[in-house]
Amino acid sequence: MTDTLAHFIGGERVSADAVEESRNPSNTNDVVAKLPRGGEAEVNAAVAAAKQAFPAWSDASPELRSDLLDKVGDTILKRREELGRLLSREEGKTLPEGIGETVRAGRIFKYFAGEALRRHGQNLDSVRPGVEIQTYRQAVGVYGLITPWNFPIAIPAWKSAPALAFGNTVVIKPAGPTPAIAAALAQIIHEAAEAVGAPKGVFNMIFGPGAMGAKLVEHKDVDGISFTGSQTVGASVAEAAMKRQARVQLEMGGKNPLIVLDDADLDRAVMVALDGSFYATGQRCTASSRIIVADAIHDRFVEALAEKVAALRVGDALDPNTQMGPAVSEDQMETSYRYIDIAKSEGGRVVTGGGRLKLDNPGWYVQPTLIADTHKDMRINCEEVFGPVASTVRVKDYDEALAVANDGDFGLSAGIVTTSLKYARDFQRRAKAGMVMVNLPTAGVDYHVPFGGIKKSSYGAREQGFAAIEFYTQTKTAYSWA
Ligand code: NAD
Repeated sequence: MTDTLAHFIGGERVSADAVEESRNPSNTNDVVAKLPRGGEAEVNAAVAAAKQAFPAWSDASPELRSDLLDKVGDTILKRREELGRLLSREEGKTLPEGIGETVRAGRIFKYFAGEALRRHGQNLDSVRPGVEIQTYRQAVGVYGLITPWNFPIAIPAWKSAPALAFGNTVVIKPAGPTPAIAAALAQIIHEAAEAVGAPKGVFNMIFGPGAMGAKLVEHKDVDGISFTGSQTVGASVAEAAMKRQARVQLEMGGKNPLIVLDDADLDRAVMVALDGSFYATGQRCTASSRIIVADAIHDRFVEALAEKVAALRVGDALDPNTQMGPAVSEDQMETSYRYIDIAKSEGGRVVTGGGRLKLDNPGWYVQPTLIADTHKDMRINCEEVFGPVASTVRVKDYDEALAVANDGDFGLSAGIVTTSLKYARDFQRRAKAGMVMVNLPTAGVDYHVPFGGIKKSSYGAREQGFAAIEFYTQTKTAYSWA
């Protein structure tokens, strides 16, 4: 079945000629959705609607905001199977991964339904007699939310839920390859907003190309921009936002290291590397793509991991036997193959995978690939591939491993597999990353705690959990004497 999508502007579904398509990457004959291609007119209309809704929404009882988010969370959780199926059909992650992401999105709305009701200000004693001080957290205004395709329901959820909880209104521009699941979320929010009586226009979603995202960033009535996507686009978003002093927050790429020390439990190390590098087809910003292995365990580890990688069942995302789905698009598939060629030409040794993969379905399949004997400075270890391709770097000991892990432009997530408390603790303190994992995959995080990186992986305030309030509110300090 092919859905025909419409923009959501000012509490209405706004149809236009469906000139774009989204296709199922597991079977490209399957058209998942047809959709309109918006531009500046849609940006202007959606921002105007969000601006108009802001005074009533920011003044509304926090109970109303909580009710909206709670309803959205309940609906997503109730429809997890159907939404997870749509997500997997459109993005290509396996059905358990698609359902898992959907549940995460539902839980995020439930979490922020609680946050909307919590007290976030403070009373403080003044240094002056008779003076009282209060701090308030106040809504900011209209937020432009720009999201990628790899977590097409969870990322719109973790940006829009806190924005709405704290009294802001939003315009979301979702990624090109995954509009149908984004539209399903928009429809749920749209219906919940009507049911609780929220002002029309608190939530808007418009479909269009990257250039439309740029128009949203430049719009004078957009007070804050939250962007998740690639580093190059993120840098241009920050520049444009700062030019007009809008708030901006960026979550971007990663080249996440996983260290395997020679005291590691081998089975654990293999499981952690397999999950971190290959689940979700390696299309996670937190995926482990550089595996840094101590000399004494290197050969045993590479052999054991290669065996598991070679045994991964690649196939249609909706087939229950599939362990790894396709890349989201032909471009992503070709990027993986290009980096495999680059790694080979720089001296890397393909231990498993590396060839083209043709299955019965016409889809964007990639052979999961492990490349050994790479050097830390090779392109395969410096640039984000965003596919099921991992490389290993041999090191002599922990100190060298830490130095290699901390090298490079990115700093999102970093992991270590070890049975040594000394090294685990040292790594937690000294790893240059926003998230540090001990004996766990670099990918896979909780929804109620801060998320984000350092260096070129992130910019601005942290997202998610109790950290989200920083970006989605502004502090007012009130003094009084009576
Ligand atoms: P992308 O940068 O190509 O696109 C992201 C979004 O920005 C899309 O909605 C796109 O249409 C829009 N866009 C494109 N050009 C724009 C412009 N000039 N101005 C404004 N918006 C524009 O990224 P992608 O391919 O969709 O996603 C993959 C990237 O996202 C990877 O680099 C990955 O690491 C990153 N990512 C990061 C995180 C994180 O939290 N750190 C999470 C998921 C994905």
